[in-house]
Amino acid sequence: MSEKPEKLQCLILGSGPAGYTAAIYAARADLKPVMYQGLQPGGQLTITTDVENYPGYPEGVKGPDMMVDFQKQAERFGTDVRFGLATSVDLSKRPFKVVIDEKDELLAETLIISTGASAKWLGLESEQKYNGFGVSACATCDGFFYRGQTVAVVGGGDTACEEASYLSKLCKKVYLIHRRDELRASKAMQHRVMKADNIEIIWDHIPKEIVGDKAVNGVIIENVKTGAVTRLDIEGFFVAIGHKPNSDIFKGQLEMDESGYLITKPDSTETNVPGVFASGDVQDKTFRQAVTAAGTGCMAAIEAERFLADQE
Ligand code: NDP
Repeated sequence: MSEKPEKLQCLILGSGPAGYTAAIYAARADLKPVMYQGLQPGGQLTITTDVENYPGYPEGVKGPDMMVDFQKQAERFGTDVRFGLATSVDLSKRPFKVVIDEKDELLAETLIISTGASAKWLGLESEQKYNGFGVSACATCDGFFYRGQTVAVVGGGDTACEEASYLSKLCKKVYLIHRRDELRASKAMQHRVMKADNIEIIWDHIPKEIVGDKAVNGVIIENVKTGAVTRLDIEGFFVAIGHKPNSDIFKGQLEMDESGYLITKPDSTETNVPGVFASGDVQDKTFRQAVTAAGTGCMAAIEAERFLADQE
């Protein structure tokens, strides 16, 4: 641990649209925010391709480019953006104690949590075994390696459909394996999948085992209605079954629901601890959009500013 903890008015954890928007507002309000970017600087948009629904970009924008712009805008007003991950917190009294990378201790008068969410895994042993050797949770990161090959995507939501349609442009064939007989994805996204002639939807199936040698060469799937088991020959296996909020370090200190989403007061980003605010995907299981995350990041900074003003 460092000997003398650094004291901050406003600490922001996480660097997606929520964190950077909070940073822009907090910096402009002269709260001198410090941001720790977390494991994935720029957040989930850095592993997506085109963002076509963020207002202000009539031609769309690449996710990673947009996050570079967010960072520049936050830094322009003086946000101190740092690499590092919060590894533990003590929110029992103010200033809040936050430890970064298990060594550097900070004391923060207000804390804005925008730690986002991470991809979920199926939980198969073979999924871990072949992670990086044919198994991935990000088509835009790894799709390139499977050009001209056959791959499978698991899931029936917007992410799975987006990944399947992205991969269909690179790969010879894409299987979309879904556990039900209808997709959860939006109609627009379903349409994209249906019109790609090299995507085959495998309804009512779940993966039982990913098989291979040094790398993946197949997946064993089971029909959930009949129990019949089949093998698909594939080189790549993409898991797209949703996300888990990154809230583990707040367990026992902040109220969260059964999935780990932080609970905030209605029309607010206030958590159950005064001075701690939560914004973006870590507290939003409904909308999970860049623009809604940015909106709640703005709210968190305004609420942090008001909170500090009330303390004076
Ligand atoms: P969702 O939770 O919407 O979908 C997850 C999918 O995975 C569901 O079809 C679910 O099946 C399936 N699934 C979950 N667990 C398992 C399991 N253990 N085994 C097999 N299948 C499983 O997550 P998404 O990541 O797709 O989307 C999250 C949010 O982000 C949504 O609000 C979505 O609209 C949004 N989004 C928007 C995009 C866009 O507009 N461009 C792109 C990507 C996401 P079941 O349906 O049976 O529950």
